[in-house]
Amino acid sequence: MSVHPLPHTTNGVEPHLDDDVEVLAADRAENVAASQRRVRHITGIEPSRTFDHQKIAQAVRLLFEAIGEDPDRPGIADTPARVAREYDEIFAGLLVDPADVLSVTFDEAYDEIVMMRDIEFHSMCEHHLVPFTGHAHVAYLPNANGQVTGLSKLARLVDVCAKRPGLQERMTAMIADALERALEPRGVMVVVEARHFCMEMRGIRKPGAQTVTSTVRGKFRDDPKTRAEAMMLLKG
Ligand SMILES: [Zn+2]
Repeated sequence: MSVHPLPHTTNGVEPHLDDDVEVLAADRAENVAASQRRVRHITGIEPSRTFDHQKIAQAVRLLFEAIGEDPDRPGIADTPARVAREYDEIFAGLLVDPADVLSVTFDEAYDEIVMMRDIEFHSMCEHHLVPFTGHAHVAYLPNANGQVTGLSKLARLVDVCAKRPGLQERMTAMIADALERALEPRGVMVVVEARHFCMEMRGIRKPGAQTVTSTVRGKFRDDPKTRAEAMMLLKG
């Protein structure tokens, strides 16, 4: 018996003529360009790569099948492609380096604490793939040159660190790492407060419980006076 390999297909696409291949390639190039635009809009940075949208869509389809839903049901037929595009937004942080958010710095000879409180963020728990959402408070003490960054950049840094499957602890440290790399400050303090839907929708079901994580480095850690000042600012 001779076995003929099946024609190679992806994403349920039928074997096609050469013309179709060109059309598909053009579609794909357009999708990649649209995807890059979305990521650039959200992060302010040119992404180094894009996601495999076909694979995401296939995975979502499989997920529907696995729970006994009909993926071709009119209400959800477009969901796989929609989720693929949506991941450009909610996981955009994976496509850029957080420190690049802070690439523009100013020598302001400012040597006092810079703090931004209540930066809202939405992230996705990597253990359960459901959201965790909350606020970050970010503070740094500029270096001897008084190097600072724009306040809007601090908000964007939090956003970029949040937009990926992650853990609150790692996200907190990632914000501090990026600040240290970009600004070489004398001290960094990052406090993150969040609600985790993996604890509210399932598991221990504790609606409203806040998880608080913090990373404290440099003078905020070593100098009690600076630390006390930062804590006071943090509480408002
Ligand atoms: Zn979780």
